[in-house]
Amino acid sequence: MRVLAEYGNEEIAKVYVVQLREDEAGNGKSRKYVVECVESVQPPIPREKKWVLIVSTMFGCPIKCKFCDAGGDYLGKLTAEEILAQIAYIVRRRFPDNYVPIPKFKIQFARMGEPSLNPAVLEAMRRLPEILDAPGLNVSLSTIAPKTNTAEKFFEELIEIKEQYYSRGRFQLQFSIHTTDVDKRNELIPIKKWSFEEIAAYGDRFSSPESGDKKVTLNFAPAVGYPLDAKVIRKHFDPSKFIIKITPLNPTVRSHEQSLQSLIDPYDSKSSQRVVEMFEKEGFEVILSIGELEENKIGSNCGQYVQRAIHSRAKPESSYDLEKYGVRIFPS
Ligand code: SF4
Repeated sequence: MRVLAEYGNEEIAKVYVVQLREDEAGNGKSRKYVVECVESVQPPIPREKKWVLIVSTMFGCPIKCKFCDAGGDYLGKLTAEEILAQIAYIVRRRFPDNYVPIPKFKIQFARMGEPSLNPAVLEAMRRLPEILDAPGLNVSLSTIAPKTNTAEKFFEELIEIKEQYYSRGRFQLQFSIHTTDVDKRNELIPIKKWSFEEIAAYGDRFSSPESGDKKVTLNFAPAVGYPLDAKVIRKHFDPSKFIIKITPLNPTVRSHEQSLQSLIDPYDSKSSQRVVEMFEKEGFEVILSIGELEENKIGSNCGQYVQRAIHSRAKPESSYDLEKYGVRIFPS
């Protein structure tokens, strides 16, 4: 693995651009297989208490969600070694002896790629606890719930992995839903997916909050023109098993190109309060996750991908402040 560049700062988040493979692309040219991985802290919580790593699982992503800069340019799946190499690099920068003494040390499989389409993610999850000396290790997997044979097998095995390695609240499973309108959901996430009934049935099997598991998270980054109705969610999902997470739709290049506008204004609490109350009224616990807006400028937030911003030469308002956060290119 070769680190090509890094962006960001130590106090909030850093994005690492890493090359994992190279092959012949014809005409004497080579093709580089590059992904990004991220480490972040969540001020005011210091890194000594909570540290989050976000890793890629594919080169590009075949799904091409309408709002996501990591989608497209699909070149295949990472191996377990390549997934683990991203983690090892970030960990060893700070903890060369491989001991991570942080009580909340979270690894998210959520940067580039849909993890359920890559079985190597399962192997990486299995090997993590033996590779790292990290008593606070917990994992998080975000998925749009593809309906394919590969994903079907993946989700079955995921239940066993959670039971064996990440029980008692050390696994956070997240389904990204975004809108309660089926057609609009298909527009945002253009692939055959599990229905709400299917997600609910799986979540019921996956999580046992009564045994200490985390509730399954339903993620919504609501956009103007994409309906959100808490009653539809309540009809399918049990608030004792599922929790709602609301985030702003991040200012990605793609959402800018598609004229998608966030329903949640991070600077105006009234815009989020209405959505939070709507779900609370239906009995759900709701996490409002505005996060550090500076992360948008670094390009480390969900749906962002610094390489997309560089190659498209686009810079949506309040994001990808590449000049401010500098590009530290590593010598080859
Ligand atoms: S949101 Fe996830 S599934 Fe959708 S294009 Fe981005 S990486 Fe792929």
